[in-house]
Amino acid sequence: MGRDDDGGEEYLFKVVIIGDSAVGKSNLLSRYARNEFNPHSKATIGVEFQTQSMEIDGKEIKAQIWDTAGQERFRAVTSAYYRGAVGALVVYDISRRTTFDSVARWLQELETHSDSTIARILVGNKCDLENIREVPVEEGKELAEEQGLFFMETSALDSTNVKTAFEIVIKEIYANVS
Ligand code: GDP
Ligand code: MG
Repeated sequence: MGRDDDGGEEYLFKVVIIGDSAVGKSNLLSRYARNEFNPHSKATIGVEFQTQSMEIDGKEIKAQIWDTAGQERFRAVTSAYYRGAVGALVVYDISRRTTFDSVARWLQELETHSDSTIARILVGNKCDLENIREVPVEEGKELAEEQGLFFMETSALDSTNVKTAFEIVIKEIYANVS
């Protein structure tokens, strides 16, 4: 926490997005931060993070949201990526069971690299693909409950719950520090 020019409180929280390759991490971020969707996105190019603000209790809360540069494909997300993170979105793709099976490994990795107080949400993305769903909503909910995470199904394509998912994490971080 710092002070802004008017002497008001200023918050900047680091949030990381993790999960298997192609689950929609980069598109969730671009949808949230810029209201953009890219149907042909390959590995993330360039930017390491994007900053997005929201207001809680009349205070400006800035979230610095980090996206991988595609290194998750090689299981090579480094500890620098996690350093200082106070929130995390753990993402799978509801149309690919294998990405849900990987969640346990991502949670393990998060545990290794971050503080136990980190705010976490499990995100089942691509809920617009109902016709080829492989992971029932109930299974996502159960896993989240079991592991003590928030849970939300989202679609970066049609915007369903994207803002809500990020804001749940940011509100929880704020609740943890205020
Ligand atoms: P990342 O590797 O986890 O960063 O995944 P990307 O954001 O690059 O997305 C991988 C692919 O899934 C791209 O072709 C996206 O257009 C597509 N995608 C991402 N989110 C959604 C979604 O909510 N619904 C659908 N149908 N496709 C999505
Ligand atoms: Mg990406």
